Amino acid sequence: MSERETMQYDVITVGAGPAGLAFAIRLKQLKPDLTVCVIEKASTIGAQILSGAVIEPEPLNELLPEWGANPPPICVPASKDEFWWLRDHERAMKSPITPPQMHNHGNFIVSLGALCAWLAPQAEALGVDVFPGFAAAEALIDDAGAVKGVRIGDMGVARDGSHKPGYTEGIDILAPITVLGEGCRGSISKQLIA
Ligand SMILES: Cc1cc2nc3c(=O)[nH]c(=O)nc-3n(C[C@H](O)[C@H](O)[C@H](O)COP(=O)(O)OP(=O)(O)OC[C@H]3O[C@@H](n4cnc5c(N)ncnc54)[C@H](O)[C@@H]3O)c2cc1C
Repeated sequence: MSERETMQYDVITVGAGPAGLAFAIRLKQLKPDLTVCVIEKASTIGAQILSGAVIEPEPLNELLPEWGANPPPICVPASKDEFWWLRDHERAMKSPITPPQMHNHGNFIVSLGALCAWLAPQAEALGVDVFPGFAAAEALIDDAGAVKGVRIGDMGVARDGSHKPGYTEGIDILAPITVLGEGCRGSISKQLIA
């Protein structure tokens, strides 16, 4: 059996959500000489981030102070708040006041998927390698019990485990530091917690 291909980085980030991409951007801003990659299981960045969202802009202001000059494609300032009680599928009642924690003055309505698709090139401009279509299948552990990287899942495997015509063996990406930004219930996080 042939030796599995490997790639070596200083830091691997699993997951190109807002957390993984923001982390990679900040790391390269602080330590430009480090080699950093972000791997994402979706075929394009943002494709598995489904939520529309209202976001507070403060973290973005700190991360990319000039972001307003080149905003994400969907990014609308929240102009007014309404708070509704939905009683059943036919009846709803507008509350005369909006609870303070639901105030969105100064916030922005975005598509989180579009925000990630917009963050990825900002990371790449700083020298981060962003790899969509790379799903981390398992953490790799060294002899001392430390995480030494991740194995990318094989592609072209049938349900019964047999190899389909386009079968490609997943590579190993190795690094002294692996950062998990898989979102909630991440499979690698679960493996390591267990
Ligand atoms: C319905 C809903 C509404 C929300 N509304 C708001 C809102 O209005 N405002 C707000 O601020 N927040 C909102 N949130 C919360 C917000 O979506 C999350 O806080 C945010 O997405 C978390 O970012 P993350 O980068 O940690 O994880 P995620 O956004 O989950 O990103 C994780 C990424 O990692 C990838 N990934 C996972 N496993 C692997 C793997 N093994 N290999 C490679 N890639 C992997 C996923 O495909 C995904 O792209 C909402 C959430 C939901 C569910």
